[in-house]
Amino acid sequence: MEELIETVAEFIVRSRRIVVFTGAGASTESGIADFRSRGGIWDKYNPEDFYFQKFLTNEESREKYWQMSTEVYESLKKAKPNPVHLAIAELEKLDKLDCVITQNIDGLHHKAGNSREKIIELHGTALSVSCLSCRRKYDRDEVQERILNGVKVPRCDDCEGLLKPDTISFGQAMPERETNEAYERSFGSDLFVVIGSSLVVQPAATMPVRAKQGGAKLVIINRDPTPHDSYADVVINGVAGEIMARILGKVRETIRH
Ligand code: NAD
Repeated sequence: MEELIETVAEFIVRSRRIVVFTGAGASTESGIADFRSRGGIWDKYNPEDFYFQKFLTNEESREKYWQMSTEVYESLKKAKPNPVHLAIAELEKLDKLDCVITQNIDGLHHKAGNSREKIIELHGTALSVSCLSCRRKYDRDEVQERILNGVKVPRCDDCEGLLKPDTISFGQAMPERETNEAYERSFGSDLFVVIGSSLVVQPAATMPVRAKQGGAKLVIINRDPTPHDSYADVVINGVAGEIMARILGKVRETIRH
């Protein structure tokens, strides 16, 4: 492992346009469960119940959605950045980071100190809520209060439209600007680092391919194997926070000398 950590640290020192790609595994050490692991969200709820079309058409599905989402948000709002998020924020301070593309909806890259323009949230954010009809925005905490006070399906104060967190559900269109920008930045990167993603959901599954096509080195740091490991330059299987802290330690050492 030590040798792999040194290799990744060397890659970082030599790179200028690093794109980091984070999935749910980047935030498990902040106490937010991922979806597919044992004990994850899909052990408890059925993903089939959360298709966008169902949310639009069926009151019972909306109730279930808000029940799941309210439970998830309770852990999100307490969560603090872990060494993964802090390492990525440090890459920005070192002027190495082109951007961080995240599938996460927890806002932890913002909390860790990465600047807004460096963060691409592919699946939106759970920290705000919008009316699907008039697009009025609401603070998530305010809507959370309503649910905790017994409202089952919150509606817009202005137009009675359906409120929904600003996250992308199954069957809901991906944000076009963010997705295109993510593809472009991945292609233009000189080092692409995946942290904590199973790389099976689109467009996550294509992003490392784009990076490789553009000539980047590919590093995958994940507890479990991914379908992209075979063509990565370095794969480190382990706990991401510990690994990132060690990599950044080496980077600092090298830069100082
Ligand atoms: P996933 O659940 O499919 O995979 C997570 C991966 O992270 C797994 O392969 C697992 O081995 C790995 N992992 C878990 N903890 C780790 C750790 N401490 N160190 C290293 N690796 C670790 O997640 P995904 O591929 O990101 O896709 C799931 C979808 O769910 C995403 O689209 C995301 O939007 C959403 N999601 C977001 C959050 C969040 O915002 N924090 C949480 C759960 C799910």
